[in-house]
Amino acid sequence: MSTPVIAQEGKGIISAGSKGPAATPVVLAVPKEQASGEQRVATVPEVVQKLTKSGHEVRIEHDAGTGAYYPDDLFTAAGAKIASSQADLLNGARIVLRVQPPTVADVDQLAEGTVVIGFMNPTHNLEAVARMRDRKVTAFALELVPRITRAQSMDALSSQATAAGYSAALLGAENCPKFLPMLTTAAGTIRPATVLILGAGVAGLMAIATAKRLGAIVEAYDVRRAAGEQVRSLGAKFLELEINAESQGGYARELTPGEKVKEQQMVSAAVARADVVITTAAIPGRKAPLLITRETVATMRPGAVIVDLAAESGGNCELTQAGKTVREHGVTILGPQNLPARVPFHASQMYAKNLQSFLALLIDKDGALVREFTDEILAASLLVHAGTVLHTPTRDLLSGGKL
Ligand code: NAD
Repeated sequence: MSTPVIAQEGKGIISAGSKGPAATPVVLAVPKEQASGEQRVATVPEVVQKLTKSGHEVRIEHDAGTGAYYPDDLFTAAGAKIASSQADLLNGARIVLRVQPPTVADVDQLAEGTVVIGFMNPTHNLEAVARMRDRKVTAFALELVPRITRAQSMDALSSQATAAGYSAALLGAENCPKFLPMLTTAAGTIRPATVLILGAGVAGLMAIATAKRLGAIVEAYDVRRAAGEQVRSLGAKFLELEINAESQGGYARELTPGEKVKEQQMVSAAVARADVVITTAAIPGRKAPLLITRETVATMRPGAVIVDLAAESGGNCELTQAGKTVREHGVTILGPQNLPARVPFHASQMYAKNLQSFLALLIDKDGALVREFTDEILAASLLVHAGTVLHTPTRDLLSGGKL
């Protein structure tokens, strides 16, 4: 990451963090998300109320919150204005709050100096990043917010992974032909189902907690040994392997070829006895590790279910197809995309609070945009500013692709 950059003086004035009315109200705009299947919205009435009470103008595109069950009238009651067209929404807007990355067409509607905040998926969204650079739009990417304690309240990766883990456990239960809990009934005793979670990060831990609440026997595995304590504290069994692949920033590193063999042997045995397997293993910036081979799937019980949360980054199971349901050897393999959008009400609420905390960093107590993005969190998440791409991996990809 390059050195932080000076913000444009006198422009972006917001006061999400200040108590009184802002000196110069800022216009914040929230578009309706256009990505297929996206139900979330970047703000909710509770957050809008705080911004408008501080004297700022919040514009919501008509129907932006409908998919998440926040109808226009709730936003109006919170002090927002409803914009009936993109032009009305964006004309004079200083800050745009989004969930999904903007497309090139979205960027083309933004005036120079507009600040966009949201997930940017920068290395997979190069054309839009290049367009933001060329149009001198300022973009903050929430996936680049560092995982430090002070940034926890703005950690949208974690809030949305929580929603994804919860949804994954429900999806597994829904597709499993068995009850998850033990039942003692007049029609006999039902043994509890076994749920295996591979990857015990934020999503995995939420999937464990949800499967436990549904009454399943839960086992989990992660290459980071530190995850063991968290798994056990949720009442699940942690599968130990003589590997600790914790690396920089608490993330996992890629395993050596020898370690991969050991891992696959242990994982295969656990997969074969599970009724539901939820996989969440990921290594930032890399293809998802392959944990379940085609051969391992063939050893599973008929009716078993795999929910592969890594589907969009290549899949943890060899047979996964992103966005599809595959059936092989009587096993159902789900490759869901955008799981947080399945719980849009609370996923949006958590996301909106993350943005509220982020906005409080971007402005000072008088409601003025900070003049320098020197704060560690702002500097790390600043993707594009004043015609420059500041995230080195993205900049390298752009110059490699001559964009
Ligand atoms: P992630 O989405 O990058 O990966 C999910 C999980 O997959 C991780 O736990 C990772 O260890 C695991 N994994 C990777 N390769 C694997 C393999 N071959 N086999 C099994 N598991 C494998 O992770 P995440 O959920 O974003 O969290 C990553 C870390 O960051 C965790 O330690 C988490 O507790 C930590 N974290 C810290 C904060 C903070 O504010 N301090 C916030 C969020 C997360």
